[in-house]
Formats: sequence, structure tokens, C-alpha cells
Amino acid sequence: TSRGIDAEANIEDSRIEGSLRPKSLDSYIGQKKIKESLKIYIEAAKGRGESLDHLLFYGPPGLGKTTLAGIIANEMGVNIKITSGPAIEKPGDMAAILNNLQEGDILFVDEIHRLNRQVEEVLYPAMEDYAIDIMIGKGPTARSIRLDLPHFTLIGATTRAGMLSAPLRDRFGMIHRMEFYDIDELCTIIMQSAGILGVEVDANGAKEMARRSRGTPRLANRILKRVRDFAQVKYDGVITEKVANVALDLMDVDKMGLDHTDRNLLMTMIDKFGGGPVGLDTLAAAIGEDAGTIEDVYEPYLIKNGLINRTPRGRVVTDLALTHLGLEK
Ligand code: ADP
Repeated sequence: TSRGIDAEANIEDSRIEGSLRPKSLDSYIGQKKIKESLKIYIEAAKGRGESLDHLLFYGPPGLGKTTLAGIIANEMGVNIKITSGPAIEKPGDMAAILNNLQEGDILFVDEIHRLNRQVEEVLYPAMEDYAIDIMIGKGPTARSIRLDLPHFTLIGATTRAGMLSAPLRDRFGMIHRMEFYDIDELCTIIMQSAGILGVEVDANGAKEMARRSRGTPRLANRILKRVRDFAQVKYDGVITEKVANVALDLMDVDKMGLDHTDRNLLMTMIDKFGGGPVGLDTLAAAIGEDAGTIEDVYEPYLIKNGLINRTPRGRVVTDLALTHLGLEK
């Protein structure tokens, strides 16, 4: 059935994404500042024979937070358990996860800002004292006992650090913002992935795909795979600038890497709100997107590239956006 084929395609995709994930700090491209401090941090912890202090990574999706957590586990020589904020519903679930960790293990919690309050409270003593408090019994005879945990490292990932409650944020020893990748870094990632996938890409082909990857390694890899299909079926298999251009135009990804939603967002600001200022919720309603998704996924890249400005009264489009869209000022 077609469903069966879909399911298989998904498995294939995630298996390849897995194999494209770098395994060591040296094959992890870019994010220089984070890498430099992590190297020292890891060496120091290893030298003392201690677990790493808790770490928080924040930034838009696809910039390498999960990958980096896996690399830290490799470099430390410990296991990593991966879960996510919305997946842990009850305090007891969190207690069980913590209780099953081994000395030195890393617990990676993606979308950590989505943990509910009671679950989050289990983390406070766990992060601070490596212990959890468990209530035994009910009513007047209820008492709490403290259970010791192994020394573990919590690595949290979130799209916005501002979404975290202060008590949780304060318990991280290091908080790092992930940066968008520049064209050279994305080219290196694309060439590295092309090597693993066995695709031939020339320098200009790589550059064209890098330019259109929104500063994001996950998108760079996705684009590489789609353009590879195109090169294989329509051309002689080699990804040149021309092949990349034709394929990406077909995918509706423009010269700056903007997709249909990005352009719709800009055009709506221009057509319906005179270019702004317009509030986030109003804009979200107008284009039928979730406000959080606009703020976390779309807007950071548009702001970084000077297409949108944030003002106290709302978002405004810039002259650069008008020029990019081919509109007169
Ligand atoms: P996040 O957790 O921030 O959403 P991921 O860690 O899942 O992002 O990264 C998405 C994909 O991008 C990974 O599968 C990996 O192949 C690639 N990737 C991310 N960061 C890097 C990097 N610094 N160097 C090489 N590849 C990377």
C-alpha cells in the first residue's frame, strides 16, 4: 500500500540523517565559541573524573543541538538518553527516567521549555543535589523520602531561552546560544554529507545549495538529498551550480533560502499591514500560522538577514525585503 511505502521512506530518511550526524567535536562544523569552551570543559571534567555540569543549548531548530549532545556523550565516553519536554507527562515519569540513569550519563531533554510545572520541579533537586524527593503515603501520615541519584548531566535544548522558568534556567552551569551557519560552514557540511552519501558535488553547486539553506545544517542536508535525486534523474548525477539552481527553483526555495511561508509572511506584512508595524499575533492570524512557530522558526532568519525589524510597536519589513521581493519602495 502507499502507506507502507511512506513509512519505509521515513525510516530511510531518519537512518540517513543519523549517518550524516557527525560523531566527534572535530567533525562538528562551525559554532566555534561553543566548541572551544566545550573542549576545555570536557577535558577538565574528565581530568577530575567528574560528570559535566548541566548545559542548555538554545536557538532555532536544525542548528545541531541534538547532534552536539550526542558528541559530548561520545567525547565523555558515557551513555545518552534522549527524551523531550512534551513526552514526559507526570512527575513519576521523570523520577523513573532519572532513577534509571547510570553514573555520568547524559540526559538530553529536547523542547525542555515544554515540561509542565510539576515535572520541572522534580528536576530542581535532581540537578542541584542529585536527589529526588518522593512522597510516601497519603494524608496526615504522608512523608517524603529522599532518593539519591547517580551524578548525571542534563543537556536541555530549547528554541528560546526566554521560555524557560527562572528556577530551571538558573540550574544550568552553561547556557549557549546556537548561531546560524555561514556559507563556508554550510559548504563544508554539504561536502562532508555528499561524501557519506556518495554524491558528486562541485564547488559552485555546493555554494548554491549552501546559500539557500537558511543558515541551517538540517536544511542543507535535506536540500542536498533532494537535489541529488534531481541530478540523478535529469542530469548526469553531478550537482553543479546549474543543477542546484534548477532543482531549488522547482522546490520553491529562493536565492536567499526563503520558502513559500517566508515570502507569504513578508507579502502579508506589506499588502495587509502597509509594511508594519504589526503585532506577532495579528500577523500569525493573518497567515494562519502559529505565533510561536513564526517566532522560533521563521523570524530569526528573516531578522538575522535584515528583512524584518523588531520594534516596540511590532514587526516591520525593511527596504531590503522590498528589494528582495522585487517591489518598489
Ligand atoms: P537540532 O537538535 O538543533 O534541531 P540536529 O542536531 O538534529 O538539530 O541537527 C540536524 C542535522 O544537521 C543533523 O542530523 C546533522 O546531520 C546536521 N548537523 C547539525 N549541526 C551540524 C554541524 N555542526 N556539523 C555538521 N552537521 C551538522
